[in-house]
Order: sequence, then C-alpha cells, then structure tokens
Amino acid sequence: MTTEVCPYCRTKAGADDPSIACEGCGTLHHADCYAENGGCTIFGCNKAPGDEPKVSVSTPELVAATASPVASAPQSHLGPAPPPSSRHGVASGNGR
Ligand SMILES: [Zn+2]
Ligand SMILES: [Zn+2]
Repeated sequence: MTTEVCPYCRTKAGADDPSIACEGCGTLHHADCYAENGGCTIFGCNKAPGDEPKVSVSTPELVAATASPVASAPQSHLGPAPPPSSRHGVASGNGR
C-alpha cells in the first residue's frame, strides 16, 4: 500500500480527501492544496506556477525611495568658540 502524501501540506492525501493527481508529474495533491498553490507544488514541474510572483518584496525602487537621503546636518561652524582659558594668567590684572 502506498501512502500518498500531499507535498503541499504534508498530510495523507487521496484516501479521504478529494485529491487530484498532477497532470505534469502525477503527484497526488489535495484539490484544495493544488488550487491554493495555483498548480503543482513540485518544484520544476511544468504544472507548477512558475512565473507567478509570490513574494516580490525586493523592489530596488522601493528601497531607494525609503532610504531617505540622510539629511546631512548643516554643520555650520557655529560651535561656541572655547573661551580662551587664561593659561598663564594673562588677564589677571598683571597688565602693563
Ligand atoms: Zn494537501
Ligand atoms: Zn506536478
């Protein structure tokens, strides 16, 4: 007895559940699984939904748009000039 296992949900198929055999590779699938997958779930099978984009997240344009140009902080040299620390006590009343 061969136990047919649906490769989509990895459970037994064919016995109780309505199942169909792939026309391409003959693999037994649940009818629901087959329909849900949009075709055969066997990779490389000619009945597999090959060119159907499942997840097209890698959109370079989207990434470029999201990556906001890092607003380079206007580094105007407005830094407060460090107060001339009187090193030698110049301005200590010892003026001429
Ligand atoms: Zn299944
Ligand atoms: Zn197939």
